[in-house]
This record gives sequence, C-alpha cells and structure tokens, in this order.
Amino acid sequence: TRFNAYNLNDDILKALEGLAYNRATEVQEKVIPLALENKDLVVKSQTGSGKTAAFTIPICESIDWFENKPQALVLTPTRELAVQVKDDFINIGRFKRISAIAVFGKQPFANQKAQLKQKTHVVVGTPGRVLDHIEKGTFPLDEIKYLVIDEADEMLNMGFIEQVEAIIKQLPKDRVTMLFSATLPEEVKQLSSNYLNQPIDIEI
Ligand code: AMP
Repeated sequence: TRFNAYNLNDDILKALEGLAYNRATEVQEKVIPLALENKDLVVKSQTGSGKTAAFTIPICESIDWFENKPQALVLTPTRELAVQVKDDFINIGRFKRISAIAVFGKQPFANQKAQLKQKTHVVVGTPGRVLDHIEKGTFPLDEIKYLVIDEADEMLNMGFIEQVEAIIKQLPKDRVTMLFSATLPEEVKQLSSNYLNQPIDIEI
C-alpha cells in the first residue's frame, strides 16, 4: 500500500517521501489504520519489519503540535533503541516540527530534566530512568495519550517488567497503548491483558 492511501497529513507524507518510504511494510499496513482509529494493539513482529515506523507514523500524525507537555511515551529495553526510535520520530515528524527526546540511565539527569521542561511531544526512554523522572516530578504525565511498549519480551528478559508496570499505573487511563514484541511469553500476555483495553492482536 502506498502511504498516500492513508489519511495522513502532507507534512508526514512529505517526510516519508524524503526517507524513500514509498510503500507500507506488512506490519505498517496492519498497524497504521488501527492506530489512527485509536485501538489498543498487541503486535508480534521482528526487528527489521518496519515496526518502528508502524507506531511513529500514526503517533506523529495524531500529535497536537500546540500542546507543550509530552503526549506520547515509548518504553524501550535499551538506550540504543531509545535513541533510534527518537531519531525516527524526528525524521518522520520533521515537517510537522515534532520534538522528541530520549531519556536513559548513565547520562546526566539534569540535562534530561531541562529538556523535559521545554516543549516536548514525545519521550522515548528506558524504564528505570523514565520512572526516576516521574518520581522526581520532572516528567508531567497528564497529557500522555499514547504509550508504546517496544520489544516487550526484551523488557521482560532484562527484568524491567515491574518498572514498566509502575510507570503504566501512573499514566492517564484515557490513552492508546501499543505493545510490540518478537515473542509473546506468558508474562507479556499478562501485561497486555492487565493494562491494554480490548487489544487487537496482530501477527506478522
Ligand atoms: P525496524 O523494523 O523498525 O527496525 O525498521 C527496519 C528498517 O526499515 C529501518 O531502517 C527503516 O528505516 C526501514 N523502513 C521502515 N519502513 C519502511 C518503508 N515503508 N519503506 C522502506 N524502508 C522502511
């Protein structure tokens, strides 16, 4: 499917054209229309499938540029992935001037705190540092409308599930949640049944 078949703003289509993303990959074809309808999703897909753009495209489309507080939170198991996902938001949101930041451990807290005080649409981070900001009151959650749990099985393997749950419990209930995972072990299924709202299962 060509991206112009979706109901996307010209700002987003122009960015996709610049990235030479001409056609949606299979995961994007399945996720984008449902995400644009604000459905909760559990997506079983591998890295390399185009899963990142499957959530960055609809989130960039839906963001209200004028809101200063963060509207989307993406949790990742590693800082490398956090940076990569943040870069994808910046690339796809370029012409909409989406501001995205990555927060993770072993980096000065104060810099991230200062960034969070500026206009920030999207926060991508590892669970420990995200929780740290929430507990210190440096990350306002009241405007969060999208939560993405990326590589949920890796999050589990690295022992982050409790932190992920502690974060979710503090988010507004009225939100869209998308969980991505290469595999769906019992604990990941449990997480989705506890915190997602009638999620649609997508398998690639
Ligand atoms: P991911 O599975 O999100 O790690 O993406 C794998 C790679 O595919 C990344 O380098 C993306 O830049 C690229 N990619 C994602 N979507 C598309 C698309 N629709 N067309 C071409 N390349 C894409």
